[in-house]
Amino acid sequence: MKTKAEIEEKIRVFSLELAAELGEISGEEHGSPFAALEMLAAEIGDQLSCELLTQQSRMKNEMRLPESECCCPKCNGPGELKRLRQRDVQTIRGTTELTEPEYHCQQCRRSSPYSIN
Ligand SMILES: [Zn+2]
Repeated sequence: MKTKAEIEEKIRVFSLELAAELGEISGEEHGSPFAALEMLAAEIGDQLSCELLTQQSRMKNEMRLPESECCCPKCNGPGELKRLRQRDVQTIRGTTELTEPEYHCQQCRRSSPYSIN
């Protein structure tokens, strides 16, 4: 895992690239070029937050989990991994797509996203 300073450096480098690609910002819609840039920067921050949550969830759940690590929320028995499903979730930064495993319990004949601990 990267340190906070390493992540800040990565963001700084990425921001430099974005700033160069954005070029001149017109302030017509927002009153001033700075206000327009502030709005755009906030949108980019929101998009980055949502994308980070989506990718973290996908990476974490695409590693197939051993059956013994999950159990049915009803009977506590083992579940069989059925599929990974995507679900849109509203966050304070916008909508993000979470990936979660769906397990099937043969005893209860039910499928659900079990909590994995
Ligand atoms: Zn069950």
